[in-house]
Amino acid sequence: MTSALTAQHPVVVVGGGIGGVAMALALGRQGHRVQLLEQADQIGAIGYGVQMGPNVMPMLDFLGVGEAVRAASYMPKEILLYDYLTGQTLSSIPLQTDAFYQRYQSQPYIAIHRADLHELLLKACRQHPNISLNQSTTVTGYSQTPDGVSLETVQGEGVEAVAVMACDGLRSRLRAQMHPADVPRESGYVAHRSLIPMAQAPAHVQQRQSVTMWAGPGLHVIYYPLRQASMLNIVLVVRLPEHIASTQDEAYAAYLQNLLDQGQPEPQQVARLVNLERRWAIADREPNRTWHDGRVCLLGDAAHATLQSLAQGAGMAIEDVVCLSEYLHAHGTDVTAAFKAFERTRFLRTARVQWVSRHLWEDYHCEGVQAQVRSEIFSQRDEQDHYRCLDWLWTPQSVAA
Ligand SMILES: Cc1cc2nc3c(=O)[nH]c(=O)nc-3n(C[C@H](O)[C@H](O)[C@H](O)COP(=O)(O)OP(=O)(O)OC[C@H]3O[C@@H](n4cnc5c(N)ncnc54)[C@H](O)[C@@H]3O)c2cc1C
Repeated sequence: MTSALTAQHPVVVVGGGIGGVAMALALGRQGHRVQLLEQADQIGAIGYGVQMGPNVMPMLDFLGVGEAVRAASYMPKEILLYDYLTGQTLSSIPLQTDAFYQRYQSQPYIAIHRADLHELLLKACRQHPNISLNQSTTVTGYSQTPDGVSLETVQGEGVEAVAVMACDGLRSRLRAQMHPADVPRESGYVAHRSLIPMAQAPAHVQQRQSVTMWAGPGLHVIYYPLRQASMLNIVLVVRLPEHIASTQDEAYAAYLQNLLDQGQPEPQQVARLVNLERRWAIADREPNRTWHDGRVCLLGDAAHATLQSLAQGAGMAIEDVVCLSEYLHAHGTDVTAAFKAFERTRFLRTARVQWVSRHLWEDYHCEGVQAQVRSEIFSQRDEQDHYRCLDWLWTPQSVAA
C-alpha cells in the first residue's frame, strides 16, 4: 500500500485495551507496520464480562475474528430489567426472536469474557509479523513535526511514529495533553465486578438465560452467564454517599448492607456474592468534537467515554476502529484528512451513546414519584417499542469489507 503510514517509522497505538488491540489488528491487516504500547505488564489481564449489541459483530467480522468470537460467546435470550425495590418488571427485550434477527441483519447479541475477546484479538495480531506488542511501556506525552510524532515514556525511551492512535482509555494522558481543561466527569458511583462459578449462584439464577438487571435508588446489580453458562458475571454499582470517602471505610460495608437489605431477595443474594475489594470509579466524558491533533488521534474511551447504561463502550471502540481504518485506507498519505473524516463521522453517534446513557443512568437510580413515572413509562413499552428505541444503536453500520 502506498501511504504515509509506510514511512520509516511505524504507526503507534497507545493502550492495549479492546480498542487498542483491535486498532493494531486492523492496521496490521492493512499491511502497516504497527507498534502497540501498553503500560501494564500484561495485555488484557482484566477478566470480566462484556456485552455487545448486534451492531458490533459485523465489525468483528471485518477484523477477521467474528467466527471465533461467536464460538466463545454466550448468547443471552433476553434483557430483563426489574425494579430493585418492588420487583416489578420494567422491561423485557427478546434477543433471539425472528423479529430481532430481521431487524438487526441476523446479528447476535453476545456476552463474552473480556480475556477471551482480548486473547482472540491478540492471537490474530500475532499472526502479523508487522505488529509488535510492547508491554510495561507508559506513554507520558507527545510532540510532533509535520512529518511525524515523538512519544515520551515513563521508562525514558523515546518512540518515533508516523501517526499515533491514542487508545489509552477514560483517563487518557494523550487527551489531557490535547485538551488540558477537559477532565472526566465523575458519576459518584463505583462498580464492583466478580466472576463466580455458576454452581455457586442461587439455584433460580442458574436457570436464567438472560442479562438480568435490577435497578433502584443508589444502586443497580446486573448479571449474566459466560463461557457456556459455566460462570456468572456480576456487576454491582453503588452510589458512594458524601460522608464515605472510600469503599475501604468500615462505614461503606454498613451502608451497603443497609442499601441491599431494602431490595428483592434475588438481587440481594447475587449482590452479596460480589467481591468488594476491587472497585472502579464510574465516570464519563463530555462530548468533544475534536479527537485529533495533527498526526495524533483519540479513539474508544479516550475519545468518548460513556456510562455503562447501554453496554456499548467497548462496542463503540470497535466501531471506531473499523471506521478509522477505512478512512486511513481511503486517504492514503493524508493521515490528518483521515482523522478529520473519522471524527466527523463518529461524533454524533458516540455523543448520542453518551447522552442516552446518562438519561438511562438517571432512570435506573431515581426514586419516589420520578421512579413511579419511570416504571409506568417503561412497563407500557412492548417489544417493538424497545426495538424502535434501540434501532439507531443496534442496527449495524455499513462496512466496506
Ligand atoms: C463496570 C463496567 C462494565 C462495562 N460493561 C460493558 C459492556 O457490557 N459492553 C461494552 O461494550 N462496554 C462495557 N464497558 C465499557 C468498556 O469497558 C470500555 O468502554 C472499553 O473497555 C474501552 O476500551 P478502550 O480500549 O477505549 O479503553 P480501555 O479498555 O480503558 O483500555 C485502555 C488501555 O490503555 C492502557 N493505558 C492507559 N494509559 C496508558 C499510557 N499512558 N501508556 C500506555 N498504556 C496506557 C491501559 O492500561 C489499558 O490497557 C464497561 C465498563 C465498566 C467500567
